[in-house]
Amino acid sequence: MVSSLTQLKNYKIRPNKKLGQNFLVDDKVLEEIVALYDLKKDEVVVEIGAGLGALTTRLAPRVRKVLAIEIDKALVGLLKDEIVKDKNVEVITQDVLLFDFPEVAKLYGGKLKVLGNIPYSISAPLLFKLLEYKNSLSMAILMFQNEVADRIVANPGTKDYGVLSVFSQISAAVSKELLIPRYSFYPQPKVDSAVVRFVFSDFFIKGIKDERIFKSVVRASFAQRRKTLKNTLKNTLNLGMLFSDVLNAVKACGIDPERRGETLSLKEFKYLANCLTELRSH
Ligand code: SAM
Repeated sequence: MVSSLTQLKNYKIRPNKKLGQNFLVDDKVLEEIVALYDLKKDEVVVEIGAGLGALTTRLAPRVRKVLAIEIDKALVGLLKDEIVKDKNVEVITQDVLLFDFPEVAKLYGGKLKVLGNIPYSISAPLLFKLLEYKNSLSMAILMFQNEVADRIVANPGTKDYGVLSVFSQISAAVSKELLIPRYSFYPQPKVDSAVVRFVFSDFFIKGIKDERIFKSVVRASFAQRRKTLKNTLKNTLNLGMLFSDVLNAVKACGIDPERRGETLSLKEFKYLANCLTELRSH
């Protein structure tokens, strides 16, 4: 890894802050992360943000194919010319937010495993995109800012519980696997990171009658966190229904409208959204 950093210098490439270029330089941490990936010889994996190839070069000998996505052309040049020697690695110069996961999964005839140390600046939009494409993915094991990792795995009634927690947990079993201290990176970021595992499943989502309505209810419930469910739904839920009907649906689900949205479990959000979906279709 030291040699990659030297190459960075030789190529006169300076880590780009905007692109979240904090490179993992701790071999022990890198091995711990790769061990979490539970890699299989016949797997096709997508690596997000290959950077200087610290993970890429460790993945290649362990899987069938690595699709290594990197947006920075200078780093792609370095990866292709100097770092990645394995023939089963395809370095793809692209913004991962535009990567067609369903199409690529179809091409390789199975669900994809997504891995990487992703840039902080795009963690929320990227996560929402991956959740959207969950049917094309088997698992994602990704590194986030520790604070974002806490929000993804948070339980109801905690300050971290929010839209990110609910949307993640309806699509996948999520677990925080490993804390990565900031000094494992070059340059050192201001915060620590954590690796989160997502094992995708449609088990929970199958019970949701209308995913769009479910998502609107969840967003509205968290829109004004300090207010009661009754008030935040009144102010922010727009399903084209009378508020009195919305309130009746809340009560019919056995949910006290004086509770705060952040106390509702995934199941309660599902009941409520399904009640509203039924009411709306009558
Ligand atoms: N995997 C390397 C490591 O662990 O050392 C690099 C990780 S670094 C935190 C994130 C990488 O993602 C950078 O190389 C950056 O250029 C790349 N990146 C940033 N935005 C991206 C995007 N929208 N699409 C693809 N790659 C991106």
